[in-house]
Amino acid sequence: MRILGVDVGGTKIEITGYDEKFYHIKRIPSNEDNLKKLNSILINEAEGFGAEAIGIGIAGWLEDRRVVKAPNLRYKDFQFNLPVPFILENDANCFAYGVQKLRFPEILYMAGITVGTGIGMGLILNGKLFRGRGKAGEIGHSVIHSIARIPDMLCVCGGRNHLECYFSGWSLEKKYDDFKRVIKENSEQIFREKGYELFIQEVTHLVTILDLELVAIGGGIGNKLSQEIVKRDVNTMLPPPFTCRVEIIKEDGMVAKGAALLAEDMLNKE
Ligand SMILES: [Zn+2]
Repeated sequence: MRILGVDVGGTKIEITGYDEKFYHIKRIPSNEDNLKKLNSILINEAEGFGAEAIGIGIAGWLEDRRVVKAPNLRYKDFQFNLPVPFILENDANCFAYGVQKLRFPEILYMAGITVGTGIGMGLILNGKLFRGRGKAGEIGHSVIHSIARIPDMLCVCGGRNHLECYFSGWSLEKKYDDFKRVIKENSEQIFREKGYELFIQEVTHLVTILDLELVAIGGGIGNKLSQEIVKRDVNTMLPPPFTCRVEIIKEDGMVAKGAALLAEDMLNKE
């Protein structure tokens, strides 16, 4: 079975082929032009790879498998008309699914959190992807103001004082002119951010509410975090006997891989 897995993120679009193994095919900027042309790009790549299905992971909020909001994308009006069956899924859901299937198939309760341009989360509960009514897992847009007592901040989604305002690629880039260098050369800096503390706080809330066994963190910023420090901080904040495993996922392309695996599941069910 040959399948395309696609990651439509805030900064890049990544296309991966899957046929028992994964093959990196293409990475292009997630600019307005490429997003507008996404349907025809996917038609070309599907033909080139001989794909029988396509899994698309997109940085947006979904209802009935339609994008209803995509705060971190430069274009939002997606209409897919593809020559093969496809699934559309939230990108963080694809990440969580990929991590569980490929790395931790024995774990039944976990969250996969991506910290990149924004923050996304996919939940695996009792071994299954949990979507709620479609939008579950939007941890990046949970309000934290009353906890943080910090100045009012406007979020990309139009709300105020959301976690992303303090800990995300877009908000940290606003704060530091040379954020890419800061992240690359001194990733320790990130642990001194107020936003980091708020992020850890949100993670511990999740663990206590859902009794998660694992929190896997990835994304362009998330994969630079130190596993040892995040694990220590989460477990320091958790009330005993809660404990949680933390894994920083450095493997590339996990959203696209998870999207391909979800598309494979869809074909297997047909
Ligand atoms: Zn928001």
